[in-house]
Amino acid sequence: MKSYRKELWFNVPTRRAFINITPQVEECLRESGIKEGLVLVNAMHITASVFINDDEPGLHQDYDDWLEALAPHEPISRYRHNRTGEDNGDAHLKRQIMGREVVVAVTAGRLDFGPWEQIFYGEFDGRRRKRVLVKIIGE
Ligand code: ZN
Repeated sequence: MKSYRKELWFNVPTRRAFINITPQVEECLRESGIKEGLVLVNAMHITASVFINDDEPGLHQDYDDWLEALAPHEPISRYRHNRTGEDNGDAHLKRQIMGREVVVAVTAGRLDFGPWEQIFYGEFDGRRRKRVLVKIIGE
């Protein structure tokens, strides 16, 4: 069995963003040389997500509106977590609902997606360097 590991780094200039990282994951898969196996992609931070959905800007705005309705950033005083001196209580909650990781099958050297599936990095507390782990195992 072969194994491959890489960290993808991001420094999002805004507090929140959704970034399609499918091309980077495909590049990792090419580098790995693995043709049959599994890819794990996970955010390495508790205020960011990795998830799979459609690359459609209206949907991304819908996500942002929905997450802000569930866990608005302000007032920051509404979150007990922010009593630690942080201001990212909302980002922890947004990360929880959008998820930590995805697993994608590798078949014949390609990501074995369903229709319209793409992999996204969801940033909820940006403006600093953060990482995503890509781990690929297989033959
Ligand atoms: Zn925090």
